[in-house]
Amino acid sequence: MAKLYFRHGTVGSAKTLNLLAVAHNYKQQEKKVLLIKPELDVRFGKGSIKSRAGLEMTADILVSSDTKLLEMNWNGISCILVDEAQFLSAQHIEELREITLKNEIPVICYGLRTDFRSRLFSGSARLMELADSIEEVKATCHYCNRKAILNLRHVNGAATLDGPVVQLGSDERYYPACYKCYTRQVRGVSKHEMAMA
Ligand SMILES: [Zn+2]
Repeated sequence: MAKLYFRHGTVGSAKTLNLLAVAHNYKQQEKKVLLIKPELDVRFGKGSIKSRAGLEMTADILVSSDTKLLEMNWNGISCILVDEAQFLSAQHIEELREITLKNEIPVICYGLRTDFRSRLFSGSARLMELADSIEEVKATCHYCNRKAILNLRHVNGAATLDGPVVQLGSDERYYPACYKCYTRQVRGVSKHEMAMA
């Protein structure tokens, strides 16, 4: 049986860069990798997997709610890489788990652990339950030098816990934050006050 990996990290933790580097390594060895991402992630246009560092590849499969992963032909594939895996359903994660068993193909999922309200995404929750390997892609807090574990949403320059969980492509911003800075921000403490504390 091949392994199911979950590599989670906050926004800005270079998860996609990591994914693209893994894809590149496989391709250099002339092995075939398949890139998957949820259809709803339209940030950089459908089909594109793009890191903040500027690297870009095209997704082979865009997963929508009626995609049946188990019915696809996986012959000749050495590895499946999943970007933004937090947006997949529990059902799709279970199908990927099944592919590691039936087809003996390793599946590496990259994604956020929690949403801006600090709650697990559906895909991430199922990955936490089913993955053989759970690894953290680390990032530093936007406000201090501690490790970031949460994703802070800013709308119009202010931290907020309001709004829908999935709202990609708008002009809101997300920052990696440690628990202390996250808590202070959502309670309305300014960056200046934090620096004085
Ligand atoms: Zn911090």
